[in-house]
Amino acid sequence: MTQSLILHQNNTLFSWNISITKTSIIFLTFCVVCCISAVDPIQCNGEVNNTNCTITNSYGAFPDRSICRLAEAVYPTTEAELISAVAKATMAKRKMKVGTQYSHSIPKLVCPDGDDGVVISTKYLNRTLNINVSAMTMTVESGVTLRQLIDEAAKAELALPYTPYWWGLTVGGMLATGAHGSSLWGLGSQVHDYVIQLRMASPGTADEGFAKVRNLESGNSDLEAAKVSLGVLGVISQVTLKLQPMFKRSITYIIKNDSDLGDEAVSFGRLHEFADITWYPSQKWVIYRVDNRVSSNMSGNGLIDFPGFRSVSALVLAALRTVEETQEFLGTGKCIIGKLTTYALRTMAHALTNDGTVVNDIYKY
Ligand SMILES: Cc1cc2nc3c(=O)[nH]c(=O)nc-3n(C[C@H](O)[C@H](O)[C@H](O)COP(=O)(O)OP(=O)(O)OC[C@H]3O[C@@H](n4cnc5c(N)ncnc54)[C@H](O)[C@@H]3O)c2cc1C
Repeated sequence: MTQSLILHQNNTLFSWNISITKTSIIFLTFCVVCCISAVDPIQCNGEVNNTNCTITNSYGAFPDRSICRLAEAVYPTTEAELISAVAKATMAKRKMKVGTQYSHSIPKLVCPDGDDGVVISTKYLNRTLNINVSAMTMTVESGVTLRQLIDEAAKAELALPYTPYWWGLTVGGMLATGAHGSSLWGLGSQVHDYVIQLRMASPGTADEGFAKVRNLESGNSDLEAAKVSLGVLGVISQVTLKLQPMFKRSITYIIKNDSDLGDEAVSFGRLHEFADITWYPSQKWVIYRVDNRVSSNMSGNGLIDFPGFRSVSALVLAALRTVEETQEFLGTGKCIIGKLTTYALRTMAHALTNDGTVVNDIYKY
């Protein structure tokens, strides 16, 4: 068998459909699979509904091991309710931040300053509002997850060409943090570069009813600022994205020693549309992912379910942490674990399967 892998992409990174042709080329259909935290990051226990709350991220703690307090959480179900929430908090001079259904960012981006703030959640702003097939555009509410976006676009045979490597993120969260996939081609792989319009609700003056809605379109320089604003300029309520016709992707992993990585990196990145490089400096080797767009006529029934992005029980995490601390204490063992991990990844073909069978012939050495 040769070691080349093609994936059909109705677009994104964690579940693919693969088939092996007579020439042993592997075709993958790209969908996305992953873990989704079941625990709501916002917990409230006030006598009045949704008051006296805490907020954390999907890992249960911020890097300083704390969680944040807030006076109130608000769950608008429409843009009108969202505007009203912004106006109410502005009128009361309360600090506010935007929260999402799962809260996947590790830093404390969602914490309003102090204990008296308000978090406006996009949990119920999760509808697709419009798909214009001929213009290849899609308008969604900002709480829509990447998974929903991919599924809905695929029904219209459209795809967002570049996305982060995991689909549990919301459109608002991806934009606010400048989330991206991997590409040096075209506009690059940042999701926000495919936004052609967005609506944002921000605090306003009393004359404006304490809230102001901006409708920003391509060509308006404010759009650039509003897109990657970490949630500090207002709440993005709706987003219109420019999509592309659905396509497939071909993947082959090339494993080489890292002696010429410095020379190779940029030229490799320019050569392949979705190029990706994983460097293992302690082991002195590199995995180059040769990843290109191919015709959607290619057959394929592949799946990727990457273990690193699945939810892991707290007990397992605690055990892993203990092992790591022991290794640090003893000053040995980390290299062995590193080698075992990379060996396991290669043996499981980076979690690529074709109709449930591990695709272990995708490597070139
Ligand atoms: C398993 C995993 C894989 C990842 N892979 C990638 C990757 O491949 N590439 C990459 O770039 N990133 C990646 N990330 C990081 C991820 O893109 C960011 O953490 C992202 O912000 C999380 O989105 P969220 O919807 O959970 O937002 P949150 O973490 O809840 O919020 C992030 C920020 O966005 C703000 N915000 C959210 N919604 C809105 C809104 N409607 N209006 C205004 N502000 C808003 C929040 O206030 C906050 O400041 C990954 C994260 C995980 C957990």
